[in-house]
Amino acid sequence: MSIQINNLTKLYDTQKALNNVSLSIQTGEIVGLLGPNGAGKSTLMKIISGYIPQSSGTAAVCGFDVQAQSLEVRKKVGYLPENNPLYVDMYVREYLDFVGGIHNIGKATKNRIDEIIEITGLQIEQKKKIGQLSKGYKQRVGLAQALFHNPEVLILDEPTSGLDPNQLLEIRNLIKEVGKTKTILLSTHIMQEVEAMCSKIIIINKGKIITD
Ligand code: ADP
Ligand code: MG
Repeated sequence: MSIQINNLTKLYDTQKALNNVSLSIQTGEIVGLLGPNGAGKSTLMKIISGYIPQSSGTAAVCGFDVQAQSLEVRKKVGYLPENNPLYVDMYVREYLDFVGGIHNIGKATKNRIDEIIEITGLQIEQKKKIGQLSKGYKQRVGLAQALFHNPEVLILDEPTSGLDPNQLLEIRNLIKEVGKTKTILLSTHIMQEVEAMCSKIIIINKGKIITD
């Protein structure tokens, strides 16, 4: 099992953003987390990637508990947050070098940058500043960041939102390609998105799983 979640609850003050959520995701699946704005999708993804703690319940990635074994989880998980936060004043290669530094892979960084640029199709834009890229290429940089340390599990929060139809197809294809060798949980509020990319769908509303 790649992701195992049991009775997960998240309170923001008194608001229950997640209400006793349980689910499991098998290795190799591409799972779509579908729900309207405010459903709790981002909250769930932030907990799985170790970004914020839950209020109660447990979450595990590849058998590692997100709280007790947080560092192990971070090695296993690649996370693309909603709205793809990037340093727009950095050059693409400079940013990926920074990401390599975070993962502390030393001399292997340069090779990995070349590899990840090829995997994500960033070759022709690799010398530009991130702020100069189109939204689709910025999304590729975000995916390069998430994939940099070759994680087993990818958590992608609305990875295709705001893309034009061409960019949408390209990013979908890239995610499907990457999904051949990884477990992916991606969120969206668009039904067709799930049909186009996912092998399984989880519907969430008001912090509760409606169907799995
Ligand atoms: P989704 O990603 O499905 O749109 P979120 O997980 O972002 O949903 O939000 C779920 C609910 O929790 C929303 O009502 C949102 O306003 C609330 N929420 C999210 N983050 C916070 C926060 N840091 N503080 C307070 N409330 C929050
Ligand atoms: Mg969200």
